[in-house]
Amino acid sequence: MKMRIDIITLFPEMCESVMSESIIGRARKKGIIEVVCHQLRDYALDKHKKVDDTTYGGGMGMLMKAEPIALCIENICGQIGKKPHCIFMSPKGKVLTQSKLKQLSENDSILILCGHYEGVDQRVLDEFIDEEISIGDYVLTGGELPALVLADSLSRLVPGVLSDDLCFSDESHFDGLLEYPQYTKPSVWRGIEIPEILMSGHHENIDKWRRQKSLEETFRKRPDMLENAKLTDDDKKYLENLLKKENTE
Ligand code: SAM
Repeated sequence: MKMRIDIITLFPEMCESVMSESIIGRARKKGIIEVVCHQLRDYALDKHKKVDDTTYGGGMGMLMKAEPIALCIENICGQIGKKPHCIFMSPKGKVLTQSKLKQLSENDSILILCGHYEGVDQRVLDEFIDEEISIGDYVLTGGELPALVLADSLSRLVPGVLSDDLCFSDESHFDGLLEYPQYTKPSVWRGIEIPEILMSGHHENIDKWRRQKSLEETFRKRPDMLENAKLTDDDKKYLENLLKKENTE
């Protein structure tokens, strides 16, 4: 399934340049994903292309006006022939996770609205936005970097974007665990050898080793993730032994 991502922004060149590089750029050229960056100012109603104004009730800073955003979204709906799944990047949203990305990747069209200044008039959010997504509990100056984080991480889940689907199904967070350590050539670097098992050619043993290292990485770096990870009896036994070892050291 092909995916179309529309980004509404005051800085389309910034989004365009990031989304033109490397893996995502190649996927766009191949037509596997379509990314369209829209300049919000093109939908401003006055000759000064004003898209922000002061907030009612007082307070510092400017807010993005509702009408240019509404016109831009309606224009995109017209182009696609339906309303895409509409996301507003916001520090008030749910923090992005790999499982959220998996869920979002089932849509064939996603619209991402980038906020700026103090944010956006609430009425246009209530009218069009399906969900708000945050990239973490901190505040950036604008929604462009968050939108690019979302667009990049989502694009790589679209079939065909990565050379092999295993590229992501084996990765950190895909199945609730962190990835095992990896090594490339040379096999001895500054006197440090890679784990012997990786040279054995015995795939079953290598898979077992990787699973155990994956458990170990998660146990040491993100133990909170183990609560929700899908673990086999063997995994649980391995973790119990790790814990015992930890307590006796
Ligand atoms: N006044 C807003 C608040 O307190 O929630 C923050 C506005 S922020 C300066 C400007 C824009 O940057 C936001 O509208 C949003 O689009 C984007 N933004 C900032 N931090 C973000 C985050 N952690 N995740 C996603 N978007 C963020």
